[in-house]
Amino acid sequence: VPDAVPRRRVSPALIDDPALEGYTMSAGTFVLPGRAAPRGRAASSGDARAVVDAVAERVRQHLAQQEVLFSLPVSVSARHIHVSREALDALYGRGYELHPVKDLSQPGQYASSETLTVVGPRLRSIGDVRILGPCRAYTQVELAPTDGRVLGLATLPIRESGQLAGALSVTLVGPAGSLTAPAAIRATRHVHASPEEARRVSVSPNQRVRVRVRGEAGVVLDNVLIRVHERYRLDLHLDTDDANAAGLVGGEMVDVLRG
Ligand SMILES: [Zn+2]
Repeated sequence: VPDAVPRRRVSPALIDDPALEGYTMSAGTFVLPGRAAPRGRAASSGDARAVVDAVAERVRQHLAQQEVLFSLPVSVSARHIHVSREALDALYGRGYELHPVKDLSQPGQYASSETLTVVGPRLRSIGDVRILGPCRAYTQVELAPTDGRVLGLATLPIRESGQLAGALSVTLVGPAGSLTAPAAIRATRHVHASPEEARRVSVSPNQRVRVRVRGEAGVVLDNVLIRVHERYRLDLHLDTDDANAAGLVGGEMVDVLRG
């Protein structure tokens, strides 16, 4: 005798989980594989619970996947300094040229062999802070909050690179001299992308997105700024405090979330 209600397969979107393979649904009741279809009674409540749990898990995974706009690699930026030509003259001597030692993830940017000592209020200092080249139009000291604490700069403002309004004053000491300037910031979390990459992953310049880091120390990072330039390459830049909190060392893939 055929069932009164025709049986249908569970939707294909839900059934690519092997745990669900072979289940059929009859008038709203799941039927375990290899068992007789219920005739006038439901499957046992334990069976039903297992199936409901499995479906709920699959739906959760499906929705989590839909949230992901695109994935990209992480670079971790340790504390560093960008210098103007004039600052480099003052700190290393007139006409001094930086010596590149390592290319960074963004084309044309490099870590130099030159470092400076950063001195905060009350003469607390951090030595061997790397200068990144080439020279820029401004001098900027990018610190993580932990560095700020060491220097006695508890209220580092979060700023986009080059926007130094409200930056905290520090003294930079080099082999040829020193200078004091309002230059210390915490860099805004940001994604670099070329115009073509931005188009491909459907983000626009200066948009802010959320980034999810998976794993045991997983986090969701809010207010991640999209920065677009011809010379950029798709890459998420985090400071060492953000990276440490999320258990990242650099090179991992993370997900930019929709909305
Ligand atoms: Zn960057």
